[in-house]
Order: sequence, then structure tokens, then C-alpha cells
Amino acid sequence: MSQTRSTFARGEFSSLVSSFRQTGFVVHEPLPGVVQICRPDNDAGERLRLLISVGVHGDETAPIEMMALLLEELARNPQALALDLMVAVGNIDAIAQSKRFIDVDLNRLFTPPAPTGRTQFQGSREALRADQLMDVTARFFEGRPHKWHLDLHTAIRASFYPAFAIVPGSPNDLFLRWLGSAGIQAAVLNPDATVTFSAYTCRYLGAISCTAELGRIGELGKNDLTQFSQTQHALDALLRAGVAPDLLQSTLKPRLFRVAQELIKRSEAFHLTFDGHTQNFTEFAPHTLIARDGDFSYRVGDQPEYVLFPNPSVRVGLRAGLMAVSIPG
Ligand SMILES: [Zn+2]
Repeated sequence: MSQTRSTFARGEFSSLVSSFRQTGFVVHEPLPGVVQICRPDNDAGERLRLLISVGVHGDETAPIEMMALLLEELARNPQALALDLMVAVGNIDAIAQSKRFIDVDLNRLFTPPAPTGRTQFQGSREALRADQLMDVTARFFEGRPHKWHLDLHTAIRASFYPAFAIVPGSPNDLFLRWLGSAGIQAAVLNPDATVTFSAYTCRYLGAISCTAELGRIGELGKNDLTQFSQTQHALDALLRAGVAPDLLQSTLKPRLFRVAQELIKRSEAFHLTFDGHTQNFTEFAPHTLIARDGDFSYRVGDQPEYVLFPNPSVRVGLRAGLMAVSIPG
């Protein structure tokens, strides 16, 4: 594994910082694992502000390696950076221990603290990290009209669409086309999304955002990055050219889905009626019983539904899966 990749995974950017600084960029490291690289001019209103987050789940290492490589290459020719960039390595403590999280899933904590939002898990290490990330992100995006957030993950299970995205808020055509160009074959619209990092930046900061699942999980330094090559190429082009106008002509848009229901684990009695290893986007016929939780049951509605992230072993109160319906693109 390259040195950049291992130091990057610890949230250290020192090797990159000097090269961008020497080229005249304003570089901030407001938190461990967060770097912001911006042009110094004050009339930056129209330029895209891009946040790329990786390692929000500490065991999803391929996007960490991919970003380390991209930034390492960019740092050799720093003036090529075409936008204002923030890179956040999410759960550094969990990454160091090769774990998904230490106390609780970080990607369920991106809500403002109580009384307005989060009421659970306040004492956890991840709650503190979520608060810090929300704070620096809010300041990075403040007052900017054009802001994108790509939260890059890899999935635990196989998927009928190996690369897909969950898109909070209302869909943006250019953004969907960019996702298509990055090899994302399916986009699941989730207008009511809450608690995830991308839902926070969309809902509270007005960013166009997504949680992108780029392929299968792998061990740090042992990932087969070729499965991510199309995404890597599109990210490189975005960093160097911004949002290219010819994207509007792109026909690579992902197939569209919309979240129909969330499977919330209300009690320890929760169980799925199908194997927990079922692939993402497995189709279920209308009215099929999909889960029971004591007296409560979850059924498919009037049109076929496709399961995402089934995981009955989450904590009570959290989401044990999503069901989506196909919608016209
Ligand atoms: Zn993840």
C-alpha cells in the first residue's frame, strides 16, 4: 500500500497540503481527517463547492484508497483543481481498528443535537464526530449557491446494480447524469431521508448530495480498485474540470427508484421473512410479507418493491432495511 493511502486513512494530509499551499490555494485542516482546499479569491460565488466524504463506515476502505490516489495525482499538478474541495475521512477511529464503527453507526447520527434532533447515542464517540463534521461542513458550504456532496461507501452484500446511489431531497438532472457518467447504474430517490451525512447536507445545508455505494467491501490495501475505475475517472474529471456542460447531453442516467417504505426495527422481535444475505435490489411481488415485529408486519404495496440494505441485527429503533419502487426516468 502506498504511503499516501495509509496516512490518508489515518486522516493525515500533510504530504498534499504543502503542494496545494505552494501553488497559492488556501488550505485548512479544521479537524483530524478533514482538509479544505480552496482558491483564495473572494468572488468565488459561482464556483462549485464539493465535499467528498469517505470512511464514514470504517470498514469501507476502497473509497479511501481511491481518493488518496486521486489527490496524490492531483497534488503533482495542483493548479488543475477546478473547484473548492473539502475531503472528509469520516470515522478515523473505526478505520484504525478495521471496524464499521466504535460505539454506534456514524451514518445514523447526522441530525442536529436535541432538542431539535438527535436524542439517542449522545455520549457515543460517533455522536461527537458527527457534530464536528456537521459544524465544519456547514461553514464550508455557508453562503455558496453551488454545493455538491458525494458520500462514498461500499456495500456489504452483493447487488443487482453493483454501483448505486441514495439521493435525498429532490433530484437534480445534471447531478443524476454525472452519477451515470461515474458508473452508478441505479439512483434511489429518498425525499424524506434523515440521519445520514448526505441527508444532512441536503436538508440543512441545501447541497445536492448522495450516498454512493460503489461496489463490494474490501480490506484496506487489498481492494481491487479496477471495479471502481469508472467512478475514479469521473471523479478525476470533476476535480479537474468541474461540472462539464456536455454532461447535459449524456445518456448514461441511472435507472430511477423511489423509497416506498423503511423497515424500522421496533423491538427485538423484528425478523425478516427472507434470508438476510439477500442481494440489494432483489424484487418482491406486490403484497408479499417481508418482515414481522411482534404484532406489526411489513408488506409490499401494490407494485413490486426492491429491497436495500436488509440488516435485522441493527439496534432497536434503527432502520433494518429499505424498500424501493421503480419509477420512470
Ligand atoms: Zn457504508
